[in-house]
Amino acid sequence: MTDENNEKYIYYINRLIGITEREGFDRNEYCSLISEICEHYRLAKGVTEFYPTAMMEKMKNGEIFCDYDNGRGEKVLLSIRIISKARARIIGTLYVETDDPERSAEELEQIETLLRIVVGFVARMRLLRIMEEFGFHDMDGFQSFRAFIRYLETEGAENRLGGKIAFHFDIQNFTIVNQEIGRQNGDKVLKNYYNMIKDTIGETGIIVRLGGDKFIGVFDRALKREVFELFTGAMVPYDEKGEKRVKVASATGVFMLPDPFMLRSPGDIMDKIIMAGNKAKRQSDGSIIIYEDRMKAENDHVKKVMTDFRKALLDEEFLVYYQPKVDVFTRKLVGAEALCRWQRNGSIVPPMEFIPILEMNSDICDLDFYMLDHVCKDIRRWLDEGREAVRISVNMSRKHLVDVDLLEHIMNIIDRNNVPHEYIEIELTETTTDVMFRDLKRVVSGLQDQGVWTAVDDFGIGYSSLNLIRDIPWNVLKVDKSFVPKDDEEEDSIAKLMFRHVISLARDIGLECVVEGVETIDQLDVLRENNCSIAQGFFFDRPLPVRDFEFRLDHKVYPE
Ligand code: C2E
Ligand code: MG
Ligand code: MG
Repeated sequence: MTDENNEKYIYYINRLIGITEREGFDRNEYCSLISEICEHYRLAKGVTEFYPTAMMEKMKNGEIFCDYDNGRGEKVLLSIRIISKARARIIGTLYVETDDPERSAEELEQIETLLRIVVGFVARMRLLRIMEEFGFHDMDGFQSFRAFIRYLETEGAENRLGGKIAFHFDIQNFTIVNQEIGRQNGDKVLKNYYNMIKDTIGETGIIVRLGGDKFIGVFDRALKREVFELFTGAMVPYDEKGEKRVKVASATGVFMLPDPFMLRSPGDIMDKIIMAGNKAKRQSDGSIIIYEDRMKAENDHVKKVMTDFRKALLDEEFLVYYQPKVDVFTRKLVGAEALCRWQRNGSIVPPMEFIPILEMNSDICDLDFYMLDHVCKDIRRWLDEGREAVRISVNMSRKHLVDVDLLEHIMNIIDRNNVPHEYIEIELTETTTDVMFRDLKRVVSGLQDQGVWTAVDDFGIGYSSLNLIRDIPWNVLKVDKSFVPKDDEEEDSIAKLMFRHVISLARDIGLECVVEGVETIDQLDVLRENNCSIAQGFFFDRPLPVRDFEFRLDHKVYPE
């Protein structure tokens, strides 16, 4: 071969590598180079076959590309077959005309090298596309979370996210849709609903499936009305003709991206839309909740309480405060309620800021046992110090009711501290379901048998039913503070009438009646007028730290 041919060969190699390795592949440039090479080497046709797996090659089920064909290629000149690391098979074959003269070994070697570069390149391109399909779509053909991340990163880099709307939605009651029209049709509904939203969002946004019936995405603010309409409720077809339809609505959390918007990490957006989405789920069908910064603070607080709780319990950061219960006629201290306070970083946190959070799992149960244990220790100490102790009530969350060993647990704590049973009262609130009602009855009866007092707390709010006080052997009924008549209330107001009747009902069936939230002298008078003997409220005392309460214990009578 001539030097000129060698030079050409080197030139082709360099250009081929240049085109195929460069970012941003230029198809026209590539095709014209391939034609030039084929003409130079007098090749008639070049074909590449691509099979993702061995099985697909066997079945001849793959993709075939032809980058050059002058229509006269009949005879195979060269064929190579490579297997990629990912087990894909790529075959490259070059054809020449029937009367093609014998080629020199050197020329064949050059042709083979060039073919290898091309085949390697095609393999890479094909594998990339396959990866795109596998990597950015899920098994059902929906775009996947990775596609969302890629979208955020590319759009974010171009500063194109500002002003857009990000969303997370959950189709509501999709299990019921599945039950009603069958799973297969349910899948169609899912796909069609997704497509309806995808088509509405168009090129400037994205929608991907997170899994199940959960989707996230981003769209242009200009499309807000149309897209929101689909979220709140859409009739989605599930047959070819579009005659069979089912109504689909979502619970959607939305984050309005500020403009300009700096994307630090996709998590910034995810956190917000999920938080708002969770809130939407707790509301009615088809609701859309827009993220506000306040939600983040709430969410952080919840997480912080949950993670700090265990250590705080070990470190004894929870304190028992005692709120006196006072006989309204004699003004004598007759008992107290133990109320929890969290001494945290130098301040005192009230229970409403952490108890509802601890009730989200069963952490509350450990706190209640801790409280009971500390109360027992205090009572034991008072008795040992020769003080005249009073009965102390301890709150037990409803969460305990599923614990079949609750009774044993409570009795263990009391007996371990060697406290006479009559000094302890357990407060439980009303229940909502029949099952809980049965558990409640079992626990209260058990405590009763042991001589421990029981109180129904917050009576009058929630699901009070008369069965609750007829069928369960309580000792004490605690009337909720919302029942206490306000000072400016008319004498014959419904609230006052109810208050009066609840108290006389309790008295008539032999329950001790404690009224919570007594704040004024007038309210105290109402209690007296109605023969209700025990008050608990700010009028006498707020919940007190143990030392202050001990002062009350030692003095007993509140002066007029
Ligand atoms: P609760 O058991 O009904 O306790 C009575 C609540 O009413 C207490 O609030 C008390 O400070 C408040 N209170 C008493 N007198 C007055 C008054 O005159 N006016 C007003 N406005 N409020 C009054 P606190 O201590 O904030 O506790 C709130 C709730 O947290 C309790 O309601 C109870 O449900 C729960 N809780 C407190 N400690 C514990 C505990 O150790 N375990 C469990 N499970 N729950 C607890
Ligand atoms: Mg209580
Ligand atoms: Mg109460």
